[in-house]
Amino acid sequence: MTEQKRCKTKVKPYSCSSVADVYSETTGAFYSDQFCQTQTSRPHRELKSALMSLWFGKRSSVVRAEILLYRMRGLSNDHLSCCVNTLLQTLSATWELADLLEKWEAVDNSANSDNVPVQLKRVLAAMRSTLPEPAPHRDFLRCLDRNRVRLYTQHDADEVFLSILNFIQQQIDDKALAFEIQNLYKISVETHLQCLECSSVQTQTSYLLSLPVHIREDHNSLEACLTSFFEPQELRDINCCFCAQCGNKTPSKKGIKLLSLPRILCMHLKRFRNSRGFTQKLDCSVTFPKTFDFSETVQEAFSTNFAQDDCTYTLFAVVVHSGTASFGHYTAYVHHRMNQHWYYANDSHVKQVSWEDVQTSYGKPHRHTAYMLMYRRGLQNEEQQPELSG
Ligand SMILES: [Zn+2]
Repeated sequence: MTEQKRCKTKVKPYSCSSVADVYSETTGAFYSDQFCQTQTSRPHRELKSALMSLWFGKRSSVVRAEILLYRMRGLSNDHLSCCVNTLLQTLSATWELADLLEKWEAVDNSANSDNVPVQLKRVLAAMRSTLPEPAPHRDFLRCLDRNRVRLYTQHDADEVFLSILNFIQQQIDDKALAFEIQNLYKISVETHLQCLECSSVQTQTSYLLSLPVHIREDHNSLEACLTSFFEPQELRDINCCFCAQCGNKTPSKKGIKLLSLPRILCMHLKRFRNSRGFTQKLDCSVTFPKTFDFSETVQEAFSTNFAQDDCTYTLFAVVVHSGTASFGHYTAYVHHRMNQHWYYANDSHVKQVSWEDVQTSYGKPHRHTAYMLMYRRGLQNEEQQPELSG
């Protein structure tokens, strides 16, 4: 990738609530607020009941209260790790990935500390537990560091995301499982290159693991960005391509068509742009839907060989970048699989939020802006969710 940006943790790391907080703040506003916001939901009715019991000294209820409160574990900011922390929250919300990794036992245990999928499996398992303190992820950070995703360095979230997927492909010793994990994200495409002088067409098939969506000031919705992405583009001057028929570089028209869409559809909003040696961040607003039907949104995006029926997608995670191209911070909005609530994960601090809060990441100058969007195929339906394996 040619685009680079610098992310520097500017916010003060939040302290994490602990078991002691549950005891010391039982009568405080913290719990009162929780009740006021969620009086109608079953988990919180249970929580209220558990805490009422706590008033009368029933210790077992404390444990139940903890379980209900800490449904998502935070991750401490360790050596500017907000980018990796944010990705881990989104990967944890991609329960299909953790389920696949759970099936796998590495044959060679000697190099486990350097093996990204081994360490990822461990940290995702830790994040599934209901303990109140941040999930231990130092081994994962050090493992990435040994694989050249350095500590003390500000990273680009999309680059690190693709690196992690590549490490899984390279380092997992069960190739069938590696293929299954790749298929989870694989967007198969065919690229058509038509010479504008002899009209011959070259077709190539390839795949992407996240869709790099260019944005412009006049594109204020994801749907408009996707339409633009699939519009044929003329390549002239220095962008001319070699035509085998003509025997030299000629102007051409390039188009991209979808051959298949994955279960997990990741889209990267390209908000960082190089201009005369400087990296700029595009803060413009780009709305994105909670659910959408790809086949209705961009009808011309599909190859005649596309054979899938269901092209509906539901949003489940948003990687957010706050700040400028030079200084910034990553956080995530994540939709919880079991209780169907949205959460905002800011390093060790995780709080429940509303869909309206998620929409604040559409973008405004100097505000936090959505940078990566993760959608799951199908319409959201709690009854259709498979059983948790962890
Ligand atoms: Zn030609």
